[in-house]
Amino acid sequence: MPEPRKPLISGNWKMHHNHFEAIQTVQKLAYRLTKDDYEAVDVSVHPPFTDLRSIQTLLQSEEIPVALGAQNCHWEEKGAFTGEVAPPMLAKLDVTYVIAGHSERRELFGETDDVVNQKVRAIVKSEMTPILCVGETLEEREAGGTEDKVSGQVRAGLAGLKAEQVGAMVIAYEPIWAIGTGRTATPDDAQATCALVRATVREVAGGDAAEAVRIQYGGSVKPGNAAELMAQPDIDGALVGGASLDADDFARIVQWR
Ligand code: PGA
Repeated sequence: MPEPRKPLISGNWKMHHNHFEAIQTVQKLAYRLTKDDYEAVDVSVHPPFTDLRSIQTLLQSEEIPVALGAQNCHWEEKGAFTGEVAPPMLAKLDVTYVIAGHSERRELFGETDDVVNQKVRAIVKSEMTPILCVGETLEEREAGGTEDKVSGQVRAGLAGLKAEQVGAMVIAYEPIWAIGTGRTATPDDAQATCALVRATVREVAGGDAAEAVRIQYGGSVKPGNAAELMAQPDIDGALVGGASLDADDFARIVQWR
């Protein structure tokens, strides 16, 4: 029997919370979460780059078992790339998880599948864990294109990785029409597409990687809908935007059980 997958609940703060607000939020979250929560669930927070050092110091000095995450990175290790942040710089701050290919990066900043794949590989090379985001637009869903879009993004995002590297990573299925809209996929729809993600991983990296890879659902996850989403067999956690900005709401999502 393969090891059961430990769920991962990640808070993607996007461009919210300066470092003072970030510290307050993590302190409040740590106050809410218990040893039992950390045993059952991995938790990560993904603040803006400017907050990472403050949060790293807080997590270490208070021994808070929340993992530090980033929202993006460049794929080169260094160089003349004004305004960019390299994976080894994040690794040096004890960043564990880095989001790659969030739909806002793809849609607003023109990141292609190829760029996302380069980022995923660079994150793995720096010994951090990528959270590869995939998901369809409303038009694609209505035109029956969800499967092609999502499986295509998974294949492209994983290109060039070894099976063990794929098994150790995280893939977040986030239907674009559910992000920040208050409209969540039904648990059945979310499950169906997460199962498709796992089947695609099986095709490209084999059965062991498919059993091991953690698949998050993201898109308007809240305390009120977390339990039914997490109950699905192919959903191993959540990537939470809006509801992760408030420590109480985020803690309630972590404590969905
Ligand atoms: P949301 O965002 O929870 O605010 O819908 C999710 C995400 O974009 O990761």
